[in-house]
Amino acid sequence: MMANTVLKMTTQEINKLKEAYQAFIQPSSPPGSVFTAKPAGCTVTAYKSGKVLFQGKTAEMEAQKWGSAPAASDPKPGKSKPSHAFAPPENVGTLSLIGSDEVGTGDYFGPITVVASYVPASQLELAKELGVKDSKFLNDKQIAAIAKDLLHTIPYSLLVLSNRKYNELQANRMSQGKMKALLHNKALHNMLEKTKDLHVDGILVDQFCEPGVYFNYLSRERNIVKNNVFFATKGESLHLSVAASSILARYAFIKEMDKISAKTGIEIPKGAGSKVDVKAAEIIRKYGPDYLNDIAKIHFANTKKALNLADGKRS
Ligand code: MN
Repeated sequence: MMANTVLKMTTQEINKLKEAYQAFIQPSSPPGSVFTAKPAGCTVTAYKSGKVLFQGKTAEMEAQKWGSAPAASDPKPGKSKPSHAFAPPENVGTLSLIGSDEVGTGDYFGPITVVASYVPASQLELAKELGVKDSKFLNDKQIAAIAKDLLHTIPYSLLVLSNRKYNELQANRMSQGKMKALLHNKALHNMLEKTKDLHVDGILVDQFCEPGVYFNYLSRERNIVKNNVFFATKGESLHLSVAASSILARYAFIKEMDKISAKTGIEIPKGAGSKVDVKAAEIIRKYGPDYLNDIAKIHFANTKKALNLADGKRS
């Protein structure tokens, strides 16, 4: 069934809308209109009159993100509109979703790990039972225990971007944001394959950049996962699939860090603080500076500080 929803918006609101749908703007739009955009399952056309028409199977859901029709000039107090068109619906926590998250982006040592996993509505209780929650509230031991259960309970896709590869991409001027976007997209693509016979309501990406920027990063990709994709910061508190992915990504990251500690014989710290500089200097003295290329994100300021420390200079 084709549903239509019309909202009345101010010029400013329409400009904001256009920005939010930037990735989906069509090259041409009907006479009298400002723009036409085609996000997942819906066509959005904004007219100079201030009317915005949402057509298609997700029209109602899409329109709800921007206001309740047609009196958009009378917003409910205290209820702020989302800043982009990819905000998840209010019932997001009850849906069958694929969620994705990454770990290791702010750590000098170790790779970036990205996980996408699928938690259907029917398994939300089980996931909770297994202890899945925001990984910020869990220590490494708890992470490992929960992850070991999750690994054979839910479908997931884990991608590990090695330090060597990371440093190569970075040397070719790829931003970390783009690396993350490529990894998330790949993991999501893998998950759509793995769940193709299952019911999936949508995808929730733990937001690390504006959705428009995210899709710009992917513009040269052949397979762009775009349909029913939602973005939200603190996604792990919105749906257990993101929380589960966060746990699995952290577990994989911890294991990689353990491997680095084992092969260097040096206890490798997380983060990018002064402790990290000291350990990196120790590695430089023991194995030479080139060794960092295989175990650290060498463009971080820590490298220079460690080199100075290893030389006996003050950093
Ligand atoms: Mn995250």
